[in-house]
Amino acid sequence: MYIYKHILIAVDASPSATAILKKAGKIAEIFDSKLSIIHVIEPLSIAYGSDVPLDLTGLQEEIFQQAREKIKKAITKFNLSIEDTYIVHGYPDQEIHQIINDTDIDLLVLGSHGKGGILFFTSSTSTDVMHGITCDMLAVHIEE
Ligand code: AMP
Repeated sequence: MYIYKHILIAVDASPSATAILKKAGKIAEIFDSKLSIIHVIEPLSIAYGSDVPLDLTGLQEEIFQQAREKIKKAITKFNLSIEDTYIVHGYPDQEIHQIINDTDIDLLVLGSHGKGGILFFTSSTSTDVMHGITCDMLAVHIEE
């Protein structure tokens, strides 16, 4: 059944990735879809004066390697067959849109933290990504 041919899973560094990967894996099984993964490494915002020279190259490389290892472990754990793994630098909504626009992705699976109360007014990645998305999107409910 070819309803979704290529699913993109968006994972951050939180434990919510487990639930998202599990669910996306099941959906891929049902629809016999290809699976790809994206993890976006957000800019390091360190508030120092401009006259303090900082070389963050090593730190960025370390973050990149750790993300790659974590994703590799999760893929093995859930026995997922992954087409492409994107580990990119930038802002999650922009980078996720870019991959969707540049490829044949027809479903995005990501987590929704369902923030309430005072946090209702803060931005969430799922809301940001939903604006302007050009494919279907499934926001997996994450238990707090
Ligand atoms: P948030 O609104 O930041 O709690 O994130 C909601 C969901 O968006 C997460 O569960 C992930 O599926 C996705 N997400 C958040 N940050 C990233 C990121 N840096 N890279 C890829 N996906 C992300």
